[in-house]
Amino acid sequence: MSTITGATAPVQMQAAVVEAFGEKLVFKDFDVPTPGPNQILIKTEACGVCHTDVHAAKGDWPAKPALPFIPGHEAIGIVVAMGESVTSVKMGERVGVPWLYSACGHCEYCLSAWETVCPEAQFSGYTHNGGFASHIIANPDYVAHIPAGLHPTEAAPLICAGVTTYKGIKETKARPGQWVVISGCGGLGHLGIQYAKAMGLKVCAVDIDNTKLAHAKRLGADFIVNAKEVDPVKTVKAATGGGAHGVLITAPSLPAFNQGIGMTRKRGTCVLVGLPPGEFPTPLFDVVSNCISIVGSFVGTRQDLAECLAFAADGKVKADIELQPLSAINEVLARLEAGDVPSRVVIEFP
Ligand code: NAD
Ligand code: ZN
Ligand code: ZN
Repeated sequence: MSTITGATAPVQMQAAVVEAFGEKLVFKDFDVPTPGPNQILIKTEACGVCHTDVHAAKGDWPAKPALPFIPGHEAIGIVVAMGESVTSVKMGERVGVPWLYSACGHCEYCLSAWETVCPEAQFSGYTHNGGFASHIIANPDYVAHIPAGLHPTEAAPLICAGVTTYKGIKETKARPGQWVVISGCGGLGHLGIQYAKAMGLKVCAVDIDNTKLAHAKRLGADFIVNAKEVDPVKTVKAATGGGAHGVLITAPSLPAFNQGIGMTRKRGTCVLVGLPPGEFPTPLFDVVSNCISIVGSFVGTRQDLAECLAFAADGKVKADIELQPLSAINEVLARLEAGDVPSRVVIEFP
């Protein structure tokens, strides 16, 4: 039996549950779980809705979550109870429960600070119940520590969309003054543009929606391209003098991947983070003869999380959010799939 420290928890929690892939989430009440050893109980304040939640609820990817499950991996909340042996967080602390729920801590990847690719990694809102719920169980060693002064609703998108684009831009190896393309200017991309500008890069924003591109311009993009209206590869190459040094593809759409490789400068790096199901053709001769690197990038480590939150705490990056209640989750997921969410919807909990 574990010892629980903390105030008496409420008896019931509310959650939105995936019971079948491709079906609407079902609203359910459960008993609030009791944190076991090295677990903490979070009372959720806010949870962002990521396009990954659409893929998860549809069962889009080869490794599917076990049903039923509660999605959501941009959750911010307060530690309200802790099991035995918890030392890394305090009662009442504000933390974030990100996609990386836990890792083994002792494999070659964990030891080299690449815990995101640990073979034993667990994922919040996927292999563990996530943040579309009033309460969440989390691993205290893998939560994000939210800087004072960041509102929970503004912090929420940073712990997936923020860290994924921040890490992805670092993975392009582009240096200040060089060009990066941010392809897809939605939840991830609108933050990616801001991180890239804060890192001293020149930004070319690519999308298929003129409203999102107008917003990209307001966020600091130096050049915008509508991939539906012009040849995006030719246009980016002309604007950047031969292609971008780094390309970050966040679009959940396969044609964007092939185009992204075409936009990459000789010896540049094209970083893939969007995860539409399927495969895309790779122009092998161009990649080889132009010495282009194609790199996959998966969220970010705990250190990346701390760094990306610090940018926001310093006022250099700010998520654009639309607040909704948990009861609107099915409409929000449908709007995301239709490309109808301006930047990020955040579920706010009472
Ligand atoms: P979103 O729906 O908020 O934004 C997607 C944007 O892409 C929209 O602005 C849309 O108009 C644009 N778009 C669609 N087709 C396009 C095209 N052909 N060219 C350019 N832009 C196009 O989604 P999001 O929450 O930003 O997530 C995007 C993708 O990133 C999803 O597939 C998600 O699963 C994935 N993701 C990956 C990681 C990772 O660690 N690798 C982390 C988070 C999300
Ligand atoms: Zn996400
Ligand atoms: Zn490991």
